[in-house]
Amino acid sequence: KYLSGSEIRQKFLDFYAQRQHKILPSASLIPEDPTVLLTIAGMLPFKPIFLGQKTPDYPRATTSQKCIRTNDIENVGRTARHHTFFEMLGNFSFGDYFKEEAIAWAWELSTEVFGLPPERLIPSVFEEDDEAFAIWRDKIGIPPHRIKRMGADDNFWTSGPTGPCGPCSEIYYDFHPELGDENIDLEDDSRFIEFYNLVFMQYNRDAQGNLTPLQSKNIDTGMGLERMAQILQQVPNNYETDLIFPIVKTAAEIAGIDYSKADEKTKVSLKVIGDHIRAVVHMIADGISASNIGRGYVLRRLIRRVVRHGRLVGIEGVFTPQVAEVAIALAKDVYPNVIATEEDIKGQLQREESAFLKTIEKGEKLLTEIVQKEKQQISGEDAFTLYDTHGFPLELTQEIAAENGLTVDVEGFEREMEKQRQRGRESHKTIDLTVQGSLDKLAEHIHSTEFVGYTQSQSTARVE
Ligand code: ATP
Ligand code: MG
Ligand code: MG
Ligand code: MG
Repeated sequence: KYLSGSEIRQKFLDFYAQRQHKILPSASLIPEDPTVLLTIAGMLPFKPIFLGQKTPDYPRATTSQKCIRTNDIENVGRTARHHTFFEMLGNFSFGDYFKEEAIAWAWELSTEVFGLPPERLIPSVFEEDDEAFAIWRDKIGIPPHRIKRMGADDNFWTSGPTGPCGPCSEIYYDFHPELGDENIDLEDDSRFIEFYNLVFMQYNRDAQGNLTPLQSKNIDTGMGLERMAQILQQVPNNYETDLIFPIVKTAAEIAGIDYSKADEKTKVSLKVIGDHIRAVVHMIADGISASNIGRGYVLRRLIRRVVRHGRLVGIEGVFTPQVAEVAIALAKDVYPNVIATEEDIKGQLQREESAFLKTIEKGEKLLTEIVQKEKQQISGEDAFTLYDTHGFPLELTQEIAAENGLTVDVEGFEREMEKQRQRGRESHKTIDLTVQGSLDKLAEHIHSTEFVGYTQSQSTARVE
């Protein structure tokens, strides 16, 4: 019998509670930190502690934190492991234990509590972190050729140009150990999945780039609940775990599709629906309303993507409240605020989806005009306007164009898309633990009505 998602969550928290960690509830998806739009990692609620601005009354904590990462939106349904909404299990040390305990416990939890075979686990370390390498080799007993040294991109955590930072060590699971140790490439996601990240916050970086050891060293970790569920439940991707599959299956049923027989493209759409509905349910439960700025805009675009993908798999009429019901039922034992806001969630979805369906109708009118005007081809700009403003998937525009003997300038469309992506990237913010970040926060309180910069730039971030 496989462990359920709930059992995995509980076993993680219990394991660290037995090691004197205080179990804290998940913080809201709306962060207290003004430098990020949504809670993107388990460490975010502890940021003031890591910065030394706040002293905790406990030296160790453990959480299962709701997270949303919109920067992974293009991976949703396409990779087996990425979501917008997911839960990050974490154990944290505030100036208390450090590398040795963090690594030993992560190993014990993975191999003894979750029962993962040691020969299927590969640790990575930052290339200069000989200390972590030695712990894996000598204390844990991993053969040196199975410990992978990685560059700063993957294995050095910073929060901005200055501030606390440090190397990290990640644990990967090997789906195909029969391929041997000779060519271990952790980037190959058909063979490996990263499931646990251990960050060793040990330096402060100054404006000149010098690293000085922190007086009080911290541990910040994150394990993806859905990824551990994928591994333990032996399913091909996160979407087929008990945490999400009931939603995917319901969407398939509404569409009259048998998921197991569906083609790849249909499966992607059903997975997008499964992912985004969870995000939407938790966002509304945490008090976010659909709008045209900031978090509300992210919410609105997620809802619209669900509707669009619903159309792509042949669903007609309002269906999001019905799939949301499944997500609410899945969340209710752990997140009481979800069941408490059930009516609000379904009401908002009903309104947003109906309004969006009208927008789509307007788009159809515009498309009809375009079709009448063009002789051969719908331009990339027009296709993009239909997509961006009216929520028309390119496939739909192509289909309607074809019915009228026209083609679509797909390259032109892609160019417009790339421009939009560029705008999104420019507005992307990383966690900012810097002095400037704190100053911005201060400034925001002083000029709370004038400080619109971050909301505006974030609102153009790409979430289509
Ligand atoms: P990846 O390289 O797979 O994108 P990451 O290195 O960006 O993951 P971290 O920032 O290290 O992820 O987050 C800690 C853990 O949270 C990861 O090891 C993973 O288990 C989980 N995680 C991160 N991003 C996602 C996501 N988009 N969906 C589901 N789980 C995630
Ligand atoms: Mg990532
Ligand atoms: Mg990674
Ligand atoms: Mg990582």
